Amino acid sequence: MRRSAALFWLLCASATAQPAPHNLIFRNVDVFDGFRMLRNQTVAVTDGMIATSPSANAEAIDGTGKTLLPGLIDAHIHISQVQSLEQAAALGVTTNLDMYAGYMQNLMKLRTELKAGQHPNAADFRTAGVGITAPKGHPTELMPDIKLPTLGPKDDVQAFVDARIAEGSDYIKIMYEHQLPTFTKEQLAAIVRAAHRRGKLAVSHISTQAEAYDAIDAGVDGLAHIFDDSPPKPDFASFAAAHHIFVIGTLSVLQAFAGAPTGSQLADDPRLGPYLFGPSWQIIHVKLPKQFSRGHRFEYAQAAMRQLHAAGVPLLAGTDAPNPDTGWGISLHHEMELLTGCGLTTLEALHAATAGPAREFFLIDRGRIEPGRRADLLLVNGDPSKDIRATRAIVGVWKAGVRINRDQVRQEAEKSRH
Ligand SMILES: [Zn+2]
Repeated sequence: MRRSAALFWLLCASATAQPAPHNLIFRNVDVFDGFRMLRNQTVAVTDGMIATSPSANAEAIDGTGKTLLPGLIDAHIHISQVQSLEQAAALGVTTNLDMYAGYMQNLMKLRTELKAGQHPNAADFRTAGVGITAPKGHPTELMPDIKLPTLGPKDDVQAFVDARIAEGSDYIKIMYEHQLPTFTKEQLAAIVRAAHRRGKLAVSHISTQAEAYDAIDAGVDGLAHIFDDSPPKPDFASFAAAHHIFVIGTLSVLQAFAGAPTGSQLADDPRLGPYLFGPSWQIIHVKLPKQFSRGHRFEYAQAAMRQLHAAGVPLLAGTDAPNPDTGWGISLHHEMELLTGCGLTTLEALHAATAGPAREFFLIDRGRIEPGRRADLLLVNGDPSKDIRATRAIVGVWKAGVRINRDQVRQEAEKSRH
């Protein structure tokens, strides 16, 4: 009995041991460094970091015909369990910014396990934790089984925000959504001030243009969506630019809301679909009922993004997976393509999924390929600066210098689909 317990412990210990980061040298590789393309480069990785020169025992990787990019960052996602992060990593997304977590204890447990090296194939994440919403506000209707904390008109705003930070929120997400009970503009501004007093970013959910104006006026740092209810007013982008905000477009989900699903097509791509776990495979194939698209016009969202881009407002790639028609990791490739449809060049779209979100969310250790940054890397065949879809031709993904075992993730995903 004691013996088998010891054996069990040994097996667990070996399964969860932290893999040592490999020293690497990529040769003859084109590099997107977070801003621009650099041709025919050598990139060295030592102890999980990008180094100025290769170490003697480095594993050589020939990059001929390939492009090396920073691991991608999805700036609007919701994660629940480790599979979300394994799927994301296998598909090149090494950092995920969670924008509302109903099950905060699960995420904090996951964070501890990741730190201990227990999930070598899982992407990294940051989380808003439980977002700040009014009693019966969005998204309480989506999680009727959980007793979510809500902020009533008489509650102490600072104490509420502090409680979220104590739970582990990395930034503060505010739910400003008038289809359900929500905050007054004064409350919104008070929440933003409370977040800023603690040095935290305040990001707001909005779905209409009026809400977007209110949130910007209240001092938020960023919008977690663009609106799709009305064409942007002529001064919308200059108003946003004057307030120095960033905008996470979530075009993937808005396109689905507007009645133009793309998820099945993405999942049919043999380079992407096989990495989807069962639940994600189901959600990406969910078709929203026709009447749902009432009030959603994708061309309004595109027009607003185009206007913001022209005004120089930082645009970040975020998918809002796992909403219907979207999936972890997979949808970010589509999101970058959608950004190019709003006037961004391919380089700007890649920036929106790498150095852009790293800068806005103060993830100073990543998002760029240069010595001293974490070796979160994505190697693809071809040149995504010429064809943005080349990001889907994944050759390898590394998290802090450790290669994600994509074959293992694909096999586990396949099993979970049957
Ligand atoms: Zn969301």
